[in-house]
Amino acid sequence: MASPLNRRLFLTGSVGAAAALGLAACGGTGGGEPEAAEVDASSFAEGSTMAALAEAGKITIGTKFDQPLFGLAGPDGEPVGFDVEIGKILAGALGIEAGNIEWVETVSANREPFIENGQVDLVVATYTINDTRKEVIDFAGPYYVAGQALMVLVDNEDITGEDSLAGKKVASVEGSTPAQYILDNHPDAELVNFDTYSNCVTALINGQVDVVTTDNVILAGFVESDPDNLKLVNDGETFTEEPYGVGLAKGDDDFRTFLNDTLEAAYEDGTWAEAWEGTAGAVLPTPDPPAVDRY
Ligand code: GLU
Repeated sequence: MASPLNRRLFLTGSVGAAAALGLAACGGTGGGEPEAAEVDASSFAEGSTMAALAEAGKITIGTKFDQPLFGLAGPDGEPVGFDVEIGKILAGALGIEAGNIEWVETVSANREPFIENGQVDLVVATYTINDTRKEVIDFAGPYYVAGQALMVLVDNEDITGEDSLAGKKVASVEGSTPAQYILDNHPDAELVNFDTYSNCVTALINGQVDVVTTDNVILAGFVESDPDNLKLVNDGETFTEEPYGVGLAKGDDDFRTFLNDTLEAAYEDGTWAEAWEGTAGAVLPTPDPPAVDRY
C-alpha cells in the first residue's frame, strides 16, 4: 500500500476554490481517512451546486460495488477502488471529507436515472462518455480511457477475439456500452444480459455462458481475483474506446467546469496518479491521464 498522501494545497484568487484540491486517500483499504481541502463555501458562486454541496458538507456519489480495482464494497460496506478515489478527490475539492461521502451503489442501467432524478450528485462508475447518454446527463472528464475486451474460462481455446463470437453465449450487462456493441456488431452472437458484472462472472464459471465482455480493466480485476478460473482473451486486446467520465445533472455547466478543473489539477499535482497507484495500479500499469473534454 502506498503511503497516505499528505499534501495540502491552499490556493487563493478567483479560481482558487476550483483548484483547491482535497487529498486523495491512500487507495484500497489500508489508508487513513483522507482530509479535505479547507474550502470556504462562500468562495463559490451563490446558488451554484458547488456552494450548496460545500455548505451541506456532504455529497452523494454513485459507484459500482462489485468491480475489483474500480469500485468494490469492502467488508465494512464502503467501496474501494480507483473510481472511489476519484470521487474523494472531487468531494475534497468541495471541502467534503471522505467520511462525509454517501456512496450509493449504481449498476450500469440505473446511472442516468439516478442522476436525472437527483438520487446522486455524481456518478463515478466506469461510466463511458457517449452522445446517447449526453442527451440526458452531462459528463466531466474523461479521467481514464478503457476499451472493450473479452474474458473466458482458463481452458477455453476457441474464443480468440471478437471474430469468434458467432453462436456463442456472450454475457454482458444491461444498459452498458459493451452490450450495445455486441448487439450492433455481432448479431450472430447470443447476448445474455445481467444486471452486474459479478453476475456475468458467476454465469461464466457455472458454464451458463461462453464469454464475458466489458471494459478490459473491469475484466482484469476479475481475472486478478480468480486467476485459476478466468483469463483475458488475447492478453486483454481491446476493440473499442471507453472514456470514463463523471456523470452529473444535465445543464449544470458551472459544476461541470469545476469538476473538469479539479480533475486537471489532480493530474498536475500527482493526486490522480496516487489514486491510480493505490488501487487499479496494483495490477495495471499507470497510464498518462487523458485530456479532459470541455464540450
Ligand atoms: N464503460 C462501459 C459503460 O459505461 C462498461 C462498464 C459499465 O457498464 O460500467 O457502459
